[in-house]
Amino acid sequence: MDLQVYNTLTRRKEPFKPLKPGEAGVYTCGPTVYNYAHIGNMRTYIFEDGLVRSLRFLGYKVKRVMNITDVGHLVSDADSGEDKMELGARREGKSAWDIAKFYTGAFFKDYAALNCLPPEVTCPATEYIAEMIALVAALERKGFTYRIGDGIYFDTAKLPDYGKLAGKSHIEGIREGSRVEVNSEKRGPADFALWKFSAPGEKRQMEWPSPWGVGFPGWHIECSAMAMKHLGETIDIHCGGEDHVAIHHSNEIAQAEAATGKTFVNYWLHIKFLVMADSGKMSKSEGGFLTTSTLAEKGYDPLAYRYYCFLTHYRKQLEFSWEGLEAAARGLDGLRSLAARVKAEAKGAAAAPDRNAKYFKDFSGALADDINLPEALAVLWETLKDTSIPPEQRLAFAMAAEGVAALGLFSAKEDRSLPPELAALIAEREAARKARDFKRSDELRRELSAKGVLIEDTSSGTKWKLARG
Ligand code: AMP
Ligand code: ZN
Repeated sequence: MDLQVYNTLTRRKEPFKPLKPGEAGVYTCGPTVYNYAHIGNMRTYIFEDGLVRSLRFLGYKVKRVMNITDVGHLVSDADSGEDKMELGARREGKSAWDIAKFYTGAFFKDYAALNCLPPEVTCPATEYIAEMIALVAALERKGFTYRIGDGIYFDTAKLPDYGKLAGKSHIEGIREGSRVEVNSEKRGPADFALWKFSAPGEKRQMEWPSPWGVGFPGWHIECSAMAMKHLGETIDIHCGGEDHVAIHHSNEIAQAEAATGKTFVNYWLHIKFLVMADSGKMSKSEGGFLTTSTLAEKGYDPLAYRYYCFLTHYRKQLEFSWEGLEAAARGLDGLRSLAARVKAEAKGAAAAPDRNAKYFKDFSGALADDINLPEALAVLWETLKDTSIPPEQRLAFAMAAEGVAALGLFSAKEDRSLPPELAALIAEREAARKARDFKRSDELRRELSAKGVLIEDTSSGTKWKLARG
């Protein structure tokens, strides 16, 4: 199935052509850990998890990298104001390092409760200061930087296609100074800090020596440096919330492309915001927001929120309301009951997944069409209900689909999904058996057994079970 994704850079859906066939490198901007992540932030991470799982379902080997912003994200996008970490430290009377540790832990707790898979690489910005300094130095050597009183800045006028991600008019808006406050010493309003100096007499908790003076990295340089360190100078996919298009991601592109002369990212995917149906907002810095724990305290399974998110395509704004969450929770209960019924009918033994069946193709087709999870879930519902399909087949499909949806379909507490690589092995064994290649089929049975999948050949075809239940 040929994957198409909507690329913010070209403003259209495009066929996905990875740098290496069959592989996908994905960078996702991580949380700024000065407070709990709200459910709007989590909409973005839930989609990104759905994206990674969809890519795997479609056969790609994925390496996903997520940073942790534990320094340098200032209160104002115009490179002024306090560092959010120091602000959090003052608010709670703790050190900035303790704040980072605490909220990183809290983030991953919510993240796991929402069945999001751990990224292959998680990188806290404070552990990559040397890489960031090296990148600023490279930009300096190429003449893209200048120094003013409070730091080293990127001169956006030196990069002819600066701001191409957000579009010309947007960038003109920033250049006219209408969108960000103007720091009078900056050469242009869109210029941004690469390295900020600790203010004279200020004893910051997080600061490092650098060739330009003691200070800390700008938030944007962090992502460019860590993304290139772990995924190379050109990356397949980069994601984040829609708020990052105009400034953060435009600046990531500027830094990386000015330094390497290569395209930084081939496909930019942006998730539209979750807004509150009543107030229209959800903001971490303003407080009063909802978190995954708030939902749990009100008796909602975090996976009902995951399901809620998947019912709206990621390129549409999602309006959160309690009625909407309640409806999603009821919907998920219904889907789980249906899955349990099918499992009982199949006596717990699934058939080999039939990747050529129409429902399987429809499901893959929905994912391949710009990760259309609402459509994929609709196929799952229809297929589970379709009694013309043998229950063993429906069960096999539902277990494979659960590898993408991760909605606790078979057990709310435990992920009983069939990882795509095991589904592929089962299908390969089935093919070997049909071709009467019993040697290969036995080898595959042993391999599957070692991986916890038990195979049984019956008169009505091959069935399999997970050894853990
Ligand atoms: P932050 O912790 O503020 O750096 O944000 C973490 C991620 O959440 C980023 O990818 C943001 O773009 C995203 N984000 C922030 N607010 C929302 C929202 N209301 N809805 C969806 N994503 C959001
Ligand atoms: Zn970032």
